[in-house]
Amino acid sequence: KQGEDREKDKADRATSDQVLDQRTRMILLQMINRGVVSEVHGAISTGKEANVYGAVSHDDQGEAIQRAIKVYKTSILVFKDRERYITGEHRFKGGFDKGNNRKMVKLWAEKEYRNLRRIYSAGIPSPEPLSLKLHVLAMSFLGDRKGWAYPRLRDATIEDQDEWRMLYIQLLGLMRKMFQVCRLVHADLSEYNILYHKQTLYIIDVSQSVEPDHPRSLEFLRMDIKNVGDFFRRKGVDTLTDRMIYDFITAADLPTDEPAMGEALEKLYESRPDEGDEDAMQVDNEVFRNQYIPQTLEQVYDVEKDGQKLEKGGGKDLVYSNLLADSVVDKGQDEGQKQEDDSAEGTESDDGAALDSD
Ligand code: ADP
Ligand code: MG
Repeated sequence: KQGEDREKDKADRATSDQVLDQRTRMILLQMINRGVVSEVHGAISTGKEANVYGAVSHDDQGEAIQRAIKVYKTSILVFKDRERYITGEHRFKGGFDKGNNRKMVKLWAEKEYRNLRRIYSAGIPSPEPLSLKLHVLAMSFLGDRKGWAYPRLRDATIEDQDEWRMLYIQLLGLMRKMFQVCRLVHADLSEYNILYHKQTLYIIDVSQSVEPDHPRSLEFLRMDIKNVGDFFRRKGVDTLTDRMIYDFITAADLPTDEPAMGEALEKLYESRPDEGDEDAMQVDNEVFRNQYIPQTLEQVYDVEKDGQKLEKGGGKDLVYSNLLADSVVDKGQDEGQKQEDDSAEGTESDDGAALDSD
């Protein structure tokens, strides 16, 4: 009984700064009992869709090993934005019930777990997925032994210009490997979802990643490419055009391992007709970002029809209509928005009550 109370205290600690519902606490307790972790600590990150907690496990020698536990939120606000990722995802055919929040978060967690497993086993630096129970995912911790997480790429202090360029090349290689080997498009890739440590980039936050046959995968890939290009350009890196990167990632006949991938990219640099011409690149990026990319043969045949529809002011129903409407997304604005949403969140407790009642 005493031991049980102590265990319960450990799980309670995670709830002190962020209110966790009963169900989540039970899962954390279960993970403690099963030895996945031995303590759950405070939140490393509180986001719109999930909180990430630090945790510790102990090996046979009693040595502490840091862990991370991602807990998906069950609040309604979260899901609207997410729908577009899961609609058309064949891995979730049938198991998709819009009315059931708890089922939905379970799907996100499951998706992140599976995607992480693919990415991690392909040798892409990322957290190792360790355990999954409903909407709670335990994974290896990306940080030091004391529990300090590696910084996001956005916050990394890197002075050396050559290192920025090296990281850019490294990341393009990871994107290609993810596409070719894991058959995944990250779909939320930016300096916010990449951690940095010792000249290595770690890919995180992959619950929304989709396979190439997802009806919007190439649109998501184009977004990822834009985000990455914009960020590294701001860091002073001489970037390739979005189109070149797109071709590099999707080309079937290029290598998928280093150093060959890096060499292929260097060749691309050499092959640039208007090498480094900022204006020409900007124009090309703008054209590329607004260009319609057919995904299936059926869509190729539809392009002409759709074009006529758009000219007449219609076409809101087309999968790529939002691209035509707002092809430029301001990342800074997004982040500000995200913070506002965090503080304004009010449905969490309601939702917890709903969970407890059955
Ligand atoms: P969100 O959906 O809230 O964006 P993320 O998966 O991006 O969730 O995680 C949010 C933050 O938590 C990350 O920016 C990172 O700082 C931290 N984090 C996530 N996973 C880990 C991990 N495995 N190790 C260390 N820190 C992590
Ligand atoms: Mg994130």
